[in-house]
Amino acid sequence: MTDQLIGAIEAGGTKFVAAVARRDGTIVAETRIPTETPATCFPALGTFFRDAAKGHGTIAAFGIASFGPIDIDPASPAYGTFTTTPKPGWSGARFQDVLGQFGVPIVVDTDVNGAALGEWESGAGRGCTTLAYTTIGTGVGCGVLRGGKSLMGFSHYEGGHIGVAHDHAADPYAGFCPFHGDCLEGLAAGPAIKARWGQSLTDLGSPPDKLALIADYVAQLAVNLVLLHMPDRLIFGGGVMKTPGLVEALRAATERRLAGYIQAPQLDPGLVKYIVTPGLGDEAGITGAIALGRRALG
Ligand code: ZN
Repeated sequence: MTDQLIGAIEAGGTKFVAAVARRDGTIVAETRIPTETPATCFPALGTFFRDAAKGHGTIAAFGIASFGPIDIDPASPAYGTFTTTPKPGWSGARFQDVLGQFGVPIVVDTDVNGAALGEWESGAGRGCTTLAYTTIGTGVGCGVLRGGKSLMGFSHYEGGHIGVAHDHAADPYAGFCPFHGDCLEGLAAGPAIKARWGQSLTDLGSPPDKLALIADYVAQLAVNLVLLHMPDRLIFGGGVMKTPGLVEALRAATERRLAGYIQAPQLDPGLVKYIVTPGLGDEAGITGAIALGRRALG
C-alpha cells in the first residue's frame, strides 16, 4: 500500500517549482522548470510528474499556486486558465491541459494565496484567524486568508495594483505598470527600483532615503489591508523585502500612516509582531501548493 502522493506546482514568473510530496508534506521529488512559454514548460511538467509517479507511486491530486491573473473560481468552466497576463504565450493556457492526463482532482489558487496558506499552516501565520500575505518582488501581489480559506470576489484580489499617493517632485519616476503607470507595483516592485536607481536596494547599500520611499508606498497597501480586512498579521515576502532594513522601514511607515486610528492588541507598538517576513522563507510557495493539493485530496 503506497502513500497517496500530491503533485504540487509553484508557478512563478521566471520559474516553476514542481514537487511530489507525501500527504504529511515530505517532498520525495522536486524540479525547477523555466517558465518561458506553455509550449516548453507544460511538456516538461508532464514528464516530471509521470517520471515521479513511476518512481514513487500514484499521484492522487494536484495543488497549484500560480502567478496570474488566473481563473481560480472552481465553479468556472475556465478554472485554472490564465486570463489577461501580459506574459507572452500564457494568456489562455490552462493547467488542466497538462495535468488532465492524470485524471485526478486539481486545486488552483494564486501564488500569494498559496503562500498565505503555507504560512498559515506551518509558518509565520500560525494561529491567525485572518492573515494577509503580500509579495514585493518582480511584481506585487497580495492574498487574504480567513480561517484558512483564501478570499476572493468574482476573481482573486489585485492588491498590487492599488493607487498610491505619489509625490512627483520627490519621486519623478513615472512607474512601469503597463496598465496604470504609477500604481503600487509600478512604483515599488523590483523593476521600478532598478529603473529608477539602476540597481537593487540591497546593491545600493540600503540607503535610508530610498528605503523610506519604497517602504512608504508599500505601507499604503499595509494600511489598506488593515482598514479593509483587519488581519491578525501581515506577512511581507518576495525578493525586494529581503533588502536589509526594508521591513523595519515598512513598520515605521505603516505605523505613521495608521496614525493611531486603530487600537487593537494585534497592533503592537512598533508593529514588530504585526508586520513580519515569511516564516517559511522561500519555501512558502511550494508548501502552500502542497497544502492546496491536500485539500484536493479531501
Ligand atoms: Zn498596475
